[in-house]
Amino acid sequence: MLRQALLAASRSGGARRVVETAPFTRDVVRRFIAGETIEDAARVTEELTTEGLLVTLDVLGEDTTDRERAEANVQHYIDLLRRLGDTRLEGAPLGTRAEVSLKLSAIGQTVDEALALDNARRVSTAARSAGTTVTLDMEDHTTVDSTLRTVHELRRDFPDTGAVVQAYLRRAEEHCAELAYEGSRVRLCKGAYAAPEPIAFTGKEDIDKSFVRCMKVLMAGKGYPMLATHDPRLIDIAGALAVLHGRDADTFEYQMLYGVRPQEQRRLAGQGAVVRVYVAYGREWYAYFMRRLAERPANLRLVMRSVTGR
Ligand code: FAD
Repeated sequence: MLRQALLAASRSGGARRVVETAPFTRDVVRRFIAGETIEDAARVTEELTTEGLLVTLDVLGEDTTDRERAEANVQHYIDLLRRLGDTRLEGAPLGTRAEVSLKLSAIGQTVDEALALDNARRVSTAARSAGTTVTLDMEDHTTVDSTLRTVHELRRDFPDTGAVVQAYLRRAEEHCAELAYEGSRVRLCKGAYAAPEPIAFTGKEDIDKSFVRCMKVLMAGKGYPMLATHDPRLIDIAGALAVLHGRDADTFEYQMLYGVRPQEQRRLAGQGAVVRVYVAYGREWYAYFMRRLAERPANLRLVMRSVTGR
């Protein structure tokens, strides 16, 4: 119930105004969001990569309905990627340790799929120049087919484009089977949006079981699985599947969100696993922040404590 309410609020203009202007917001938001500027993103990326973690950077801003806004978002990504290519850390460009995550809805998908594809090509070209890659985030269930089509198109010229499968979709296993081929980078996550029962599993247990089935397909396949979860049980199962399939540590990676289970991120990296942190930054933090609250009621208590001062 609470999760559904928070997800509904993530798309409500009224709730947005209340949350954005509330005095508590800044401190709590800072736990999950790296800051507002490219400088903030570069600083956090340097900190994390110095600790042996990899990064994927997300410029906040989604559901863009006009071309000018989409163009501004594309330009921001290009500027960010230039910065990743130009900044050197221990002799290597930051781009060798940080890629970008891109939401097609931020670069024109809602206006026209072809515009989003063109824009994604421009961002991918900038990523290639910076020595890095792009992963296309998966969003609301109504956009999944369009996003998968765009992934397949982009991969003709940029085979290293990352795809995302959301385990909560009933078709998730099918998506994994289609994507588990040589060289295919696939992020598996549970899914952060609300979707109706005929399309998605809605109970935690069913979603977790689907995640395990998907992991089995990806880990047995020839691609490069990127297992995006903080769930301790699923992380253990991932480790067991890696052993079962004789996968070396550098043939798959764990991914977690900035601000969520940071000790676990470092523990896994300390054991030799590849761990990538999803770092979101920018001024348009509202929808992203609300999805993080929806994932964990304890985070909502954090907000309430900062409101009441207790
Ligand atoms: P959960 O069952 O939600 O959580 C398991 C445990 O993890 C919890 O018990 C808690 O201990 C901890 N935890 C989880 N979330 C939080 C939190 N917010 N704060 C504190 N502790 C927490 N979703 C999409 O729909 N599309 C995407 O493209 C996408 N990309 C992602 C990329 C990355 C790198 C990650 C990590 C997630 C991504 N997600 C995406 C979000 C994902 O779908 C889930 O909503 C989110 O990861 C929570 O699921 P979980 O697997 O951690 O399991």
